[in-house]
Amino acid sequence: MSSALETLRRDFGGDIIEPGGAEYESARRSVLASGSPACVLRPESVEDVRAAVRFAAGAALPLSVRGGGHGFAGFGTNDGGVVIDLGGLASVEITDKERHLVRIGGGATWGQVAAALAPHGLAISSGDTKGVGVGGLTLSGGIGWKVRKYGLASDNVVAAEVVTADGEVVRAGTDENPDLFWAIRGGGGNFGIVTAFEFAAHPTTDVFHGTIAFPASEAAGVLQGWADHLRTAPEELTSIASFANPFAGGPEAPVEIQVAFDGDDPELAARAVDPVRRLGTVIADDVALKPYADTLVEGLTPPPGIRLVTRSAFADRESVPDVLRILVEASASEGAPFIAVRSVGGAVSRVPGDATAYAHRQAELMFVTTVAGPEPVVEAARPALDAIWARLAPHVGGAYANFLASATEEDVAAIYPTRTYERLAAVKRQYDPGNLFAHNHNIRPR
Ligand SMILES: Cc1cc2nc3c(=O)[nH]c(=O)nc-3n(C[C@H](O)[C@H](O)[C@H](O)COP(=O)(O)OP(=O)(O)OC[C@H]3O[C@@H](n4cnc5c(N)ncnc54)[C@H](O)[C@@H]3O)c2cc1C
Repeated sequence: MSSALETLRRDFGGDIIEPGGAEYESARRSVLASGSPACVLRPESVEDVRAAVRFAAGAALPLSVRGGGHGFAGFGTNDGGVVIDLGGLASVEITDKERHLVRIGGGATWGQVAAALAPHGLAISSGDTKGVGVGGLTLSGGIGWKVRKYGLASDNVVAAEVVTADGEVVRAGTDENPDLFWAIRGGGGNFGIVTAFEFAAHPTTDVFHGTIAFPASEAAGVLQGWADHLRTAPEELTSIASFANPFAGGPEAPVEIQVAFDGDDPELAARAVDPVRRLGTVIADDVALKPYADTLVEGLTPPPGIRLVTRSAFADRESVPDVLRILVEASASEGAPFIAVRSVGGAVSRVPGDATAYAHRQAELMFVTTVAGPEPVVEAARPALDAIWARLAPHVGGAYANFLASATEEDVAAIYPTRTYERLAAVKRQYDPGNLFAHNHNIRPR
């Protein structure tokens, strides 16, 4: 590999970081995983990405593509392979002021995007955390604070520039490579490296955002009432309910309902949010008008050795009462996982099911269980976690790739129903027949 690296050095404008180098200790880690790659390549341009892809293909080593580095499954690093770290491709440029079109580098983070768009009164429906990458979040969907009004982050992509496995640059959009465009909106990093996304952004005022908390003892009623309210609430309201937070008392932790009302009219906001306040005994309420960019939080980087095991699934309308009942019962035991339930529906459900590779459009809620700690703690929690999921199984479906710490065949089948998978496999055969981009929730070309 060393002679191939010498050749790469001639064509590559970015940093090449190898074991022993000054930056290797930080470069080998993604936010949630540690590794010991043979080299970390930090491209500064599309030409660098092309050179890096050709180098990785020639080296026949495992390849990780890292965007914001927040993937739960730890695909952003590996042992003994090549990491292409896209952090240097983080530009945010408004390309069409009238149509609010924005070109964003494939390694940008949502915090960088929100900060760059705020002075222009624009925003993109994204996630809730500054450090999360535009690449990873968007390629598998993207559930953010404007999801009910504007859909998934990927629903707002109008085109992308992709470096494919053979090192070529292609554009994917409705009129160019539409099959690739379909696949990258839900199919993850399977098809190439997205060096730039073109998004349609939305004019954005300040928004009402914050958390309303209730005692754990009221969880059952609050959560069912919350789910009922979201069915008729205006789509400006997006919300996340979380409970059993182990860092806030576990079974005794308050039920926290985070709300984001996409607008600055206090009366309309109150009409949407007050019914949440009436669901139980409010013990804290910090909902306030703030700039959209301030709704995004700084993510925590856990110390080395701490594992986060996330599992996710979707609930449709009929199963919501059973799913919430099981989750609330589970949250009452010591050692319960942290549980977060996100509202989806709205604009997500109006996009035709076959328009993109994201396959769970009719779900009303998406929920995530998280267990965190050193390996022995996570292993000790596994039987109880498996028991919760066994109880949920008859009532839930699918999985959201972005909140899935594992990537078994069962996981991939849950993310992509058979018809979606087969269509993705056909696109994979065309753009990555040798499965160079395999370190992900993998679609096999055959
Ligand atoms: C603290 C935290 C908060 C989160 N909040 C939300 C949220 O509000 N909503 C939500 O939907 N999700 C959320 N997530 C989940 C998040 O969307 C996923 O973890 C996602 O994979 C992170 O993307 P990344 O680029 O930061 O991660 P990375 O680990 O860098 O990337 C994950 C994978 O995506 C692929 N990839 C990334 N960029 C590119 C690219 N440019 N081209 C090709 N492939 C690429 C690669 O296969 C890579 O391995 C959150 C995660 C964390 C840890």
